Amino acid sequence: MTFYVQKFGGTSVGTVERINAVADKVSGFRTAGHDIVVVVSAMSGETNRLIALAHEFSEQPEAREYDALVSTGEQVTSALLSMALINRGCPAVSLNGGQIQIQTDDVHSKARIRTIESERIDAEIKAGRVVVVAGFQGVDSRGNITTLGRGGSDTTAVALAAALNADECQIYTDVDGVYTTDPRVVDGARRLEQITFEEMLEMASLGSKVLQIRAVEFAGKYKVPLRVLSSFEDGPGTLITTEENEEMETPKIAGIAFNRDEAKITVLGVPDVPGMASKILGPISDKNIEVDVIVQNISEDGTTDFTFTVHRNDLTAALEVANKVASELKAREVKGDDKVVKVSLVGVGMRSHAGIASKMFAVLADASINIQIITTSEIKISVVIEEKYMELAVRSLHSAFELEGPSPVEQ
Ligand code: ADP
Ligand code: ASP
Ligand code: MG
Repeated sequence: MTFYVQKFGGTSVGTVERINAVADKVSGFRTAGHDIVVVVSAMSGETNRLIALAHEFSEQPEAREYDALVSTGEQVTSALLSMALINRGCPAVSLNGGQIQIQTDDVHSKARIRTIESERIDAEIKAGRVVVVAGFQGVDSRGNITTLGRGGSDTTAVALAAALNADECQIYTDVDGVYTTDPRVVDGARRLEQITFEEMLEMASLGSKVLQIRAVEFAGKYKVPLRVLSSFEDGPGTLITTEENEEMETPKIAGIAFNRDEAKITVLGVPDVPGMASKILGPISDKNIEVDVIVQNISEDGTTDFTFTVHRNDLTAALEVANKVASELKAREVKGDDKVVKVSLVGVGMRSHAGIASKMFAVLADASINIQIITTSEIKISVVIEEKYMELAVRSLHSAFELEGPSPVEQ
């Protein structure tokens, strides 16, 4: 007998037929003798619909009520899936975040899980029921409903698997694993048999939305065996592993991630004196705006240019702050650009292979793509480029780094 936490995403529970198909799958696992806790997302499109509804009432909806509203999508699917299971003679019970005491901080719409009570779930499992948990939500110390950020049901599943000591956390979605890049952008993208937590964390934080970043962080921290699989067809999926596989030669590049949510701000002609970066970025972070890539040019005439990127949704607010600071600092000009994207190569094998960066830049040059910003870490290289070149860049890099088709080690 194995104990699985199984999470089904929006498309996987998007229609009555899909919910019935999930119920068949889950009851099949029960019949085979496994213990199952299921975590469900809202039906696909439902969270967006609820968010749009909230915005009918206010540009910036009240944070507590916003979470009370957007958490309802998951409650609907958990109840429906329980009904479908019970119809099949498979005892089941739906529980929401408050009922199983998923305690979070009080940062609405991006709350972090602090603790989970396992008593209620343990009791239900002992009683032979499948527990169907509404993902994406918790409660703060005062009992207010909180939500965990977009894609947060992944984190609910991993956190439950850690708290309940499950044998494996399975993330069922609309693709059959983690690919070398988004298979919806590159036809020849290849499913990975496995990927390290470190690589998956980079891929997720650089824009691959197949897993929420916090879910990967959580799984790495608590050593939760994590697998991404298709809810539509059987298959091994992709295992997220703690170890670099020593038996196989580590490929240089695991995958390519991209992020369309970037926007760039440049402050031109800033006096080149100590403390400038903090004078510009301090007020930006005071507004709770996250800054991603930062570069400062070398100065020649006592002034410098300072460029940074933010989430596209934050561009207007960030520009407002940057303009204010720029006039205080007597900088020449502030420019905003929301037509940029970030494309990144990720791989632990980069550590031991030189020349990846220069090859990446040569490939982009051959495709006549201008690089605006470059950042690197030990296991990733990112470039910011014009948005219209994103697909061309990803395809060119995917083929130049030979990520297509079966990998040499799998043949
Ligand atoms: P769910 O609703 O099941 O949570 P998501 O839409 O959040 O599903 O995540 C699955 C999607 O992630 C896929 O449909 C795919 O387009 C996208 N994706 C982005 N990068 C990758 C990648 N490297 N491998 C697989 N899927 C990816
Ligand atoms: N329903 C939420 C969202 O669309 C959470 C999730 O699907 O994981 O972001
Ligand atoms: Mg998701």
